[in-house]
Amino acid sequence: MPRKYNFSAGPSILPEPVLQKAASELVDYRGQGMSVMEMSHRSPEYKSIIEGAEASLREIMAIPANYYVLFVQGGAQSQFAMVALNLMHKHKKADYLNTGQWSKKAIAEAKRYGTVNVVASSEDTTFTYIPQTTADMFDPQADYVHITTNNTIYGTCFKSLPETGDVPLVADMSSNILSERMDVSKFGLIYAGAQKNIGPAGVTVVIVRKDLVGNALDFCPTMFNYQTHADAGSMYNTPPTYGIYMAGLVFEWIKELGGVSALEMVNKRKAAAVYEFLDNSELFSGTVVAGDRSIMNVPFILPTDELNAKFIAEAKELGFVNLKGHRTVGGMRASIYNAMPEEGVMKLIAFMKQFETDNR
Ligand SMILES: *Cc1c(COP(=O)(O)O)cnc(C)c1O
Repeated sequence: MPRKYNFSAGPSILPEPVLQKAASELVDYRGQGMSVMEMSHRSPEYKSIIEGAEASLREIMAIPANYYVLFVQGGAQSQFAMVALNLMHKHKKADYLNTGQWSKKAIAEAKRYGTVNVVASSEDTTFTYIPQTTADMFDPQADYVHITTNNTIYGTCFKSLPETGDVPLVADMSSNILSERMDVSKFGLIYAGAQKNIGPAGVTVVIVRKDLVGNALDFCPTMFNYQTHADAGSMYNTPPTYGIYMAGLVFEWIKELGGVSALEMVNKRKAAAVYEFLDNSELFSGTVVAGDRSIMNVPFILPTDELNAKFIAEAKELGFVNLKGHRTVGGMRASIYNAMPEEGVMKLIAFMKQFETDNR
């Protein structure tokens, strides 16, 4: 069976060379006579795997030395609580931008631990745009400002970061980490569930400025305290060993391609091709404001539910799978993460053109 073009929003497509490499060392990892899954996380072999993964990520994201890189569990959604439990300690309040379902959930969770001020929201139009903010809108006494850099469900993303002054910026970067260059020093904390651009589900990457760690609320569970994981090199408990190994292979793959800037170029080309088609189509249309379009998740619709269903069914027959949009948006969504080859995007566009001709 040839590999499908998997446009799933997550878990999502992984680079084929990474899967091949993992397959080749699945049963016998580099002469160890066992799989990575069977290794002690305290073994020297595993130590080199986790340290190698961290070193590669530091290299490709140019992470400054005053940041910890942590590999934790619980998915991005555990970070909704963890961020508040660790950072909401001084004035017990934080500013949030509400740009989608994930932001909303982050807001609801943070409210358990302190005062949440929703500075701006795009909920009025079902999150079709990124609300503009100015520096004076943020509370200088807030413990942090939280944003979702890329809104996976709605297909919007921040093209520039809000001006938060000295207040640390915290970013849920689950669906666009490693898709384009990011200046890590602009953030106090970045987190991302692995299952979009990093690797298999089960690992969450946290990149946190060292001075923000160590002030967790008294009742913060040990496993939710960043200090616990920072002190133990992400080995306080048994880490998700295989997921971290896979993430390491993905980071290596990115390095070999020429780094994040090389991916950024391809990602922008892929996204531009889809948007150009949508803008010129008489049948298909995009659902978000042009200036805030994501280069990772592209939602689009046809004029009727019947046509949406027909498109999804015919696409599936041709090997373009998981194109159904989120239930709150309807229609379709093509998630075109790092691992989606440019060829897959061009073939999808060709099929959309054909569909338009056949159904006009
Ligand atoms: C997928 C996603 C999440 C949820 O991640 P889990 O790991 O399932 O908790 C949160 N935020 C964003 C932006 C996402 O894309």
